[in-house]
Amino acid sequence: MNIQEQIEALRTELREHNHNYYVLDKPTISDYEFDMKLKALQELEAKHPEFYDATSPTLRVGGDITKSFKTIVHEHRMYSLDNSYSKEDLEDWEKRNQRILGDVEVEFTCELKYDGASINLTYEDGQLIKAVTRGDGFQGDEVTTNIKTIRSVPLKLTGDYPPKFDIRGEIILPLDGFAKMNEERVAAGDDPYMNPRNTASGSLKLQDSAAVAQRPLDCLLYGIVGPNTGITSQFQMLEKARNWGFKVPTIAKLCKSTSEVLAFVDYWDEHRHDLPYEIDGVVVKVNNIQHQEELGYTAKSPRWAMAYKFKAEQVSTVLNEITYQVGRTGAITPVANLEPVLLAGTTVKRASLHNADQIEKLDIREGDTVYVEKGGEIIPKIVGVDLSKRPADSKPTEYITHCPECGTELLRTQGDAKHYCTNFYGCPTQITGRIQHFISRKAMDIEGLGGETVELLFKEGLIRNYADLYILTKEQIVPLERMAEKSAENLVKGVAESVNIPFERVLFALGIRFVGETVAKKLAKAYKNIDALMAATIDELKVVDEIGERIAQSVVEFFQNERNLENINRLKDYGLQFEISADKLLNQTEILKGKTFVVSGVFELLSRNELKKLIEDNGGKVGSSISSKTAFLVAGDKMGPSKRTKAETLGIPIISEHDFLNMVNEGFNL
Ligand code: AMP
Ligand code: ZN
Repeated sequence: MNIQEQIEALRTELREHNHNYYVLDKPTISDYEFDMKLKALQELEAKHPEFYDATSPTLRVGGDITKSFKTIVHEHRMYSLDNSYSKEDLEDWEKRNQRILGDVEVEFTCELKYDGASINLTYEDGQLIKAVTRGDGFQGDEVTTNIKTIRSVPLKLTGDYPPKFDIRGEIILPLDGFAKMNEERVAAGDDPYMNPRNTASGSLKLQDSAAVAQRPLDCLLYGIVGPNTGITSQFQMLEKARNWGFKVPTIAKLCKSTSEVLAFVDYWDEHRHDLPYEIDGVVVKVNNIQHQEELGYTAKSPRWAMAYKFKAEQVSTVLNEITYQVGRTGAITPVANLEPVLLAGTTVKRASLHNADQIEKLDIREGDTVYVEKGGEIIPKIVGVDLSKRPADSKPTEYITHCPECGTELLRTQGDAKHYCTNFYGCPTQITGRIQHFISRKAMDIEGLGGETVELLFKEGLIRNYADLYILTKEQIVPLERMAEKSAENLVKGVAESVNIPFERVLFALGIRFVGETVAKKLAKAYKNIDALMAATIDELKVVDEIGERIAQSVVEFFQNERNLENINRLKDYGLQFEISADKLLNQTEILKGKTFVVSGVFELLSRNELKKLIEDNGGKVGSSISSKTAFLVAGDKMGPSKRTKAETLGIPIISEHDFLNMVNEGFNL
């Protein structure tokens, strides 16, 4: 064997071992032997770079850095799934299908609904070419370098695969791997990750692929898209994918009747904890691909598939203590400190109690055994008390009357569920909370500055409000605990760079009560600059879409306050953006970049030319005829039938004028 043959032989052998270990879960050699062979290959490749191969098993260890992820338009849109929460929903769906399909036998493939981050993998000539996240379904981020480090994703396929296709799946973090990652984090003094799903999707966007390679991620596949795949049923699709080397759980079942489908659902609702990964339901798909095509798609999801979502999981545990957190607006949030308990694969120690009413309504007391539930949200909630376990000496909870941070008496205004500490300018937690909000990712996104540093800077007397951030000097920061030349430099640089953050985010960052991200955008769009906004009365503000009495009042109060005015004046002097930028004024964006639209028919709200201008103003292109390059057909009344047929055969989404306006509005939803 010459060198090249040796290299090739090792690669083939290692690919097989990878497949045995990570896909089939049946290793045939020891880890040690595997490592030795991998090392041998690495050495040969290092000596002979002329035999480079992008699918070599040595590339699994990562190393490439992605600074910013490229946006890629999906060749085939990635749809959502419709959800059902009861058997009746599922039965209704099946009846609807049957009505559309007529008098034919309809079979179903039932799969688990893996709870992770969706991914689209593109293969050409059996090689992984690119991996793109779902994003908004139309376009996502290219994360190929990171995906290549996931051992169960084949870089090179085997068998009779089509020359080019996309395959969809879910990137997940199995429970044992997740637990191990958390053990290591806790040992290192970090907070544990909240749940496997978020950690999996966060992993895809790490810049350092070597760090991704360290994470025990897995990829479970469920759908192939592309022309000429020769696939006739969903179940066959799964089998084929498996044969080409993909990891496709064999739990999927072909069901001939509704009752079989329901039995599958029941079984997995009960047994989901026996699985090594999290699922949040079952996906039922019409099996026959021809039937699938007949059923087609709604604006958001295929009609031929339905997710059945399991109910939130519940456990019971003892509530040790109720403590109270003070937010940046002075709002008090009671927190239940629980006896740690495992819930949906994560250890739960705390649950939110929302407010005093909630505690009173459920009569929640310290020492109680409570039921804890976890829905989609990260922070679990208490849904009830097991009264049979209430200790004999139990006393009703007395809500605090004074701020735990500064001792000020709490105020509760009529119609507000929350108590507030009114010491707005003196309560230390509120001051740092406001500054932390100001620098947060969705606000000023100041690089090099985190929440703990804010507390430190405040404690050291270097900042008393967010405007003070802009006069910090490196010399002041360097002597602080855990700070060094470099970190101080980064902090000052991050602050300086934030002056370019657009007006709507500055407005959000100011921390006006009830002015969240969306409201800030609406206000920025309506008033264009801060002076106009400051001059607005409550009645004027209320004319703006989505602004009610409560928000309007809060805005006016905010600008009546001397300290806020002083801060704003200072921020203006430091060069922050207090007016909307010119291209936003013209409603011009880039959100349709790379997409070609064909416009056809008569429209209700806009003329055809207005529609075309909107497309171009937002970076899109207007095409005259439908081809495989067309991203969308915007269809009005009286559109010719041939256009529709052509779009349908090419699988191009047909959208209405309303769909289109929604798409554009989300982009410059200023
Ligand atoms: P949702 O995000 O609730 O609209 O659900 C749709 C998502 O479920 C898809 O984007 C997939 O990523 C995910 N999913 C998980 N398992 C499956 C499966 N077996 N078949 C189809 N989609 C699945
Ligand atoms: Zn206070």
